[in-house]
Amino acid sequence: EACQDAGNIAAAIHRLFKETFNIEGRIVVVGASVGIALADDPAIDAVELVRQADLAMYRAKDLGRGRTVLYETTFDEDHADLHQLESDLREAIAADDLAVAFQPLVDAKTSQWLGVEALARWVNKRTGESVSPETFIPIAERSGLIELLGLQILRKALTESNNWPGLKISVNVSPAQFRNPAFPEHVSRIIAETGADARTLTLEVTEGFFVRNPERAQRIVKALKALGVSISLDDFGSGFSSIGYLRQFDFDRLKIDRSFISALDNEANAPSVIQATVALANAFNIPVTAEGIEREEQAIILRLSGCDEFQGFLFGRPMAASEINKILRRSVDEAVSAA
Ligand code: C2E
Ligand code: MG
Ligand code: MG
Repeated sequence: EACQDAGNIAAAIHRLFKETFNIEGRIVVVGASVGIALADDPAIDAVELVRQADLAMYRAKDLGRGRTVLYETTFDEDHADLHQLESDLREAIAADDLAVAFQPLVDAKTSQWLGVEALARWVNKRTGESVSPETFIPIAERSGLIELLGLQILRKALTESNNWPGLKISVNVSPAQFRNPAFPEHVSRIIAETGADARTLTLEVTEGFFVRNPERAQRIVKALKALGVSISLDDFGSGFSSIGYLRQFDFDRLKIDRSFISALDNEANAPSVIQATVALANAFNIPVTAEGIEREEQAIILRLSGCDEFQGFLFGRPMAASEINKILRRSVDEAVSAA
């Protein structure tokens, strides 16, 4: 009945947005997320109904593109939890309480360390639980905390990496940070304050912002590269990646999304998809990193496909700076005793 009708309308809306739009000669892809709430209880007024539909819509958004979600009462509790988590995160950032883990990036042929990727870590003081970046980064993005968070991580990453001469340092940047025209200045200031070498720094960006704002993105990439910083396209293949972006932006490196590597285990065409992707990047002279490598069999295929840099549990998990120091010291000691 009512539910069925609403579902049909939602389906019609999604059909409409499946088509691309041509706006002044530009092809524009528009996503739609639908939230449905039903007023089966007369006590529910219009304001409450819209609020419920809104919660359902946000849930739909979180699930990915083109979804429809029907409101459930549990969404209210989840919403309250999320709210609490956001205020916990706000406090943690105000106290500069986030930590950074570092995961090795290794030479695909020799397994030698080439650099490390900085990954944000947060232990919620109130609950004592560690919260995954997959959870708190989106919260930070939605609540305007990401800029501060990102700069704190950048500062800590550069400070630690000063102890690791010869290693590159990669830091993730969220589209929301990239949107700020002052971002290159912030990066430049932190490089100066930490005394880091800009040429060792790579910023990892995802494609979302480039798709939506190509001109602005290009200006910001230019400004960052003028500082000597490298730009790497992260999670390639997980979204709207296109050949056009590879040409337009002059990326220094591309990281194939982890989902392609895990697909090697169970999808027959995965090796050819990876080979084609790497060949394409190489045709633009862009070297390719494979991330999320857990097993030697995956590494063999990726090596043959032409990836020159690896990252994954097989080579090292994300670890505290002190762990990195220990491992580096050990390898120096070994070199000395071998000599
Ligand atoms: P990412 O940038 O693609 O980072 C790689 C993620 O893959 C990390 O997850 C890492 O722990 C995980 N990983 C590495 N090797 C393996 C493997 O062999 N197997 C599996 N299953 N996973 C592996 P993590 O640390 O949970 O971070 C998740 C995402 O959160 C990152 O994906 C990045 O997009 C975001 N993130 C983390 N730190 C920051 C940050 O400081 N700023 C921003 N904007 N985003 C961040
Ligand atoms: Mg990354
Ligand atoms: Mg990635």
